[in-house]
Amino acid sequence: MTPDLHPGMDELILFCMGTPGGAPETKEDAAAVERVRLHLPQCPKCSAQAALLRTDMALVAMSVPQIAPPAAAKERLFQAAGIHPVATAGKSASIKNFPAPVRNGSTPGEMPPARARRANPALIWGGWAAAAVCFFYAVHIHEANQGMQQRLAMETAELNQTNAAASRAREVVEVLTSPQSQRVTLVSAHAQPEPTGHAVYLKDRGALVFTASNLVSLPQNKTYELWVIPVNGAPIPAGTFQPDARGMASVLLPNLPKGVQAKAFGVTMENAGGSTTPTLPILLAGG
Ligand SMILES: [Zn+2]
Repeated sequence: MTPDLHPGMDELILFCMGTPGGAPETKEDAAAVERVRLHLPQCPKCSAQAALLRTDMALVAMSVPQIAPPAAAKERLFQAAGIHPVATAGKSASIKNFPAPVRNGSTPGEMPPARARRANPALIWGGWAAAAVCFFYAVHIHEANQGMQQRLAMETAELNQTNAAASRAREVVEVLTSPQSQRVTLVSAHAQPEPTGHAVYLKDRGALVFTASNLVSLPQNKTYELWVIPVNGAPIPAGTFQPDARGMASVLLPNLPKGVQAKAFGVTMENAGGSTTPTLPILLAGG
């Protein structure tokens, strides 16, 4: 193999463009490609040249059309083909207007813009890396957002429950304490209605709600009086009251000491204004 038999650069380019992408267009080109194909396995120098050409072509092809083709790669290619780049305004490089291979000495083909920048592969991969980081960050934010929404939903549900409970308690108190409330005690049918009292006592708060029904009306100078009878000690007065026309009465939250353990509750009849000690007999008792 002598240097004279090395294929020309144009033939190498033709070979690189024709394989493996497509077949040459003319018989002459096909013959040139075939000569190169037979020559390359025996010539490391031309093989290396062809490999370099293929790399440059791949880079140019890969960089079209999104970014400017690597200028150095194109330059090498054009110089090898004997093409002298001429700036042509308004025409961008692309697969279609990429110059066709020209034989040495023939008219140069169409040129790409001279201002084409070299695309740094690090920039390309950097872009993808940035996109990946953004993606994972977005996923992370999405998950965090979902967690916050779940927590918010749970807290909202708890708040709604608390509000509902408070609202219901307020309604119970309003029904129990409203003067407009109708108070009825149900007893066995046909039975003579008995005077009855109901005491609800909360020791720790010293709170007492007492309602009574079927009370007989008292003389003008008399009053009913409610008593808390502690486990230890004397009876504690818990308020005086008069029944209404239907025999109904109530005592709401009288002033009582806190924490008194009650053994029983009682109602007596006292002189108007009430007493500090109960007067027998005890009219109503329970405990
Ligand atoms: Zn060679």
